[in-house]
Amino acid sequence: MKTNNFSRRDFIRAGSIGVGALALGNPLNLFAAKPAKKLGIALVGLGNYSTGQLAPALQHTQNCYLAGIVTGTPTKAIEWKSKYNIPLRNIYDYQSFDQIANNPDIDIIYIVLPVFMHKEYTIRAAQAGKHVICEKPMALNAGECREMIAACRDANRLLSIGYRLHFEPHNMEIMRLGQRQVYGQVMSIDTGNGFTYRGDPNAWRLKKALAGGGGLMDMGIYSIQGTRYTLGMEPIYVRARQEKTRPDLFNEVDETVFWELEFPNGFVATGKSSYNHDWSYLHVEAEHGKFGLEPAYGYGGVDGYTPKGKMPFPQIIQQAAQMDDFANCVIQNRRSRVPGEEGLNDMKVVDAIYRSLASGNKERI
Ligand code: NAD
Repeated sequence: MKTNNFSRRDFIRAGSIGVGALALGNPLNLFAAKPAKKLGIALVGLGNYSTGQLAPALQHTQNCYLAGIVTGTPTKAIEWKSKYNIPLRNIYDYQSFDQIANNPDIDIIYIVLPVFMHKEYTIRAAQAGKHVICEKPMALNAGECREMIAACRDANRLLSIGYRLHFEPHNMEIMRLGQRQVYGQVMSIDTGNGFTYRGDPNAWRLKKALAGGGGLMDMGIYSIQGTRYTLGMEPIYVRARQEKTRPDLFNEVDETVFWELEFPNGFVATGKSSYNHDWSYLHVEAEHGKFGLEPAYGYGGVDGYTPKGKMPFPQIIQQAAQMDDFANCVIQNRRSRVPGEEGLNDMKVVDAIYRSLASGNKERI
């Protein structure tokens, strides 16, 4: 990855702090130091996640703050302006979006839009000279992810994916236990993530062109992540099958998908995703004991266990830790631990799962 061209302002900021990188296995060292000035984040798309999680989390961040918004809904602009004290000059709509380039208050643009818009707005944000966080799933397919990575690289801007669990203590402990083989070699992994869809039958999430897929894209991405970060390895083959019990609702996208991921050493992990089952778990069997997470992937509470008993970690505001870390990455000109490539690796797996569902065969990732 190229190094970023830093402005003088960036340089002054970088010189004013000294923060150690968040080390694997140090899950509580989340706010190591404070920068002299918080970086400004603009949220793009004020739907459920921005409203319910990101904006509230930005009231608890140390290194960044809610500086601006991009919305197509004038009533939301008025509400957010007064609720979060956002100056008019930092409020944009989708027509004026590119003018953010001229706004020194905005350092980071956070794309919280339906999946089909992720590529376009990530690229436009980078070309406006801003660093970018893009929500999961990164894009409609791996090809789009590559274009986004290239655009951010060409613009010398950092790109990160909204993978909040890399900053969540229980999930960080799973990475340490699995990758460092604390209980010996991992012998099996089974993981699932899903919820029972009771939302709007016309929502973008149920439209293939807008969401890219169903439960696999939205929820399965966490199961794929969980398997990859437990092992610290990339899978090379996948075999998948699916189940549909509500084809009326899921006529364009997948409902429940089951898969087997094969790794270079021959290890096979099982995983699943659903819009029709409430799942959130990761169970690992290693040579010398079992460990895992349940619930594993939500932001309403994560629980974990090892052969020694319950994991002793607190619940944190995952999004605050995630955004603070990215702000530090920008300040220190270092790559995020969840860069675009992390999103790309998941989307390669997702693409191969869809190929396997279509072919009925094992597919190369
Ligand atoms: P949402 O439907 O509640 O919000 C989407 C927003 O995009 C709305 O404000 C909508 O007005 C806006 N929008 C702009 N142009 C649009 C268009 N052409 N069509 C539809 N909507 C348009 O969705 P959400 O739940 O906030 O999800 C947004 C993104 O955040 C998704 O990528 C989702 O996967 C991700 N997300 C991540 C997490 C997480 O834990 N990391 C949780 C929830 C959602």
